[in-house]
Amino acid sequence: ATLPGGHPDRVLAELADWQRAVRAQFPILTGTDEAYLDSAATAQKPQVVLDAVQRYLTGENANAGRGTYRWANRTTALLHRCRERVGDLIDDPDPERSGVHLVGGTTEALRRVALDWLVDTLADGDEIVVPAADHLANVIPWQEARDAAARRGVTVRLVEMPYEPSGDYDVAALAPLVGERTRLVAVTHVHHVYGVDMNVHRIRRLVGDDVVICLDAAQSVGHLPVSVTDLDVDFLAFSGHKAMALPGIGVLWARNRRGPRYEHRGWPGSPHTVGAVSLAAAVDWFEATDVARIARWTVALGARLTDGLSRLRDVRVLGCQDSLTLDSTVQRRHGPVTFRHPGISAADLGFVLADHGLMVRANAHCQGPAGERENSVRVSLHAYNTVEEVDRLLDVLARLDTALT
Ligand code: PLP
Repeated sequence: ATLPGGHPDRVLAELADWQRAVRAQFPILTGTDEAYLDSAATAQKPQVVLDAVQRYLTGENANAGRGTYRWANRTTALLHRCRERVGDLIDDPDPERSGVHLVGGTTEALRRVALDWLVDTLADGDEIVVPAADHLANVIPWQEARDAAARRGVTVRLVEMPYEPSGDYDVAALAPLVGERTRLVAVTHVHHVYGVDMNVHRIRRLVGDDVVICLDAAQSVGHLPVSVTDLDVDFLAFSGHKAMALPGIGVLWARNRRGPRYEHRGWPGSPHTVGAVSLAAAVDWFEATDVARIARWTVALGARLTDGLSRLRDVRVLGCQDSLTLDSTVQRRHGPVTFRHPGISAADLGFVLADHGLMVRANAHCQGPAGERENSVRVSLHAYNTVEEVDRLLDVLARLDTALT
């Protein structure tokens, strides 16, 4: 296997001390034998995030924006700080002309792009490229935009993004599908089933400078360095809860360079102040922990897992052509690894693994209609997962393999 920095086992050995120190910062993982392997669903929270939440709620909790007293002003400042820290994390090149908007999560962020912004810009005959094998949160909003436009008498066509068997976007097949009428291409940074980094910079090269690109970064923020500058996208969405902050807070970043300016339609009501506090603390944590190292760890651990799975007689890893050594996409897999077992249903496998203290996601994965949605098991890794956990999972599966022979 080729990985930056060498064979996965060498990377894992090199980072072992760092990883032990990282894991020790997650109180939910100390004193338990159970292995949490479902971080693509939601991530665990480091102590500093829990501390920031507690400090805020016990020391300065108030509503934001309207107060004349210290706690209220401090809360307003914390919201501002959260937006600034998120801008730093995603390498926002020009905060004066772009905006970090705090929303509920990825799904809400993408719906806001589709329904609060895109739909008003669409003209008869326009086209939107939709990644129909990605998460449904990045499929349904574009269908909703098309339907909302149709109610105004504007006909918009959805073009299905083509895929390669690895789970990657098939950019060569996409080329003839984009043209004059393409208004927006929706893409995902890291796929929530295959775990593969979708190499979205290829899309900008293909579509040129005028087409809006909207990026679902739910599985990449906190997993690998994310730069909106490098990727040259116009919108980016992610969820706080998958990035080690609290549930209910998320981000829509908008660049405001192509087409009409995105104006956030804030609803009257109170912001998720505690969520913002947790998100700012999570960003601080990612910076201190080093997202590039997190990426090296999870890619190497995922490679070990994929390699182990590919050695089992019957298991098929989704999005992998062959064993680790033959699959060059393994070095671009960040966290999620999904597989099927022909002899055991995913639900049964989920129960068996849970019985062994292995928490995985079984069955369907909210994948869009073009994906292989059903009957698979997803293991998803983050910085706190260990070699021992991965080996324990492989051991249980190997014993099942033998028992079924
Ligand atoms: N996009 C991707 C790639 C995801 O993995 C998920 C959640 O699993 C979402 C969007 C939706 O995120 P949320 O439920 O936090 O809105």
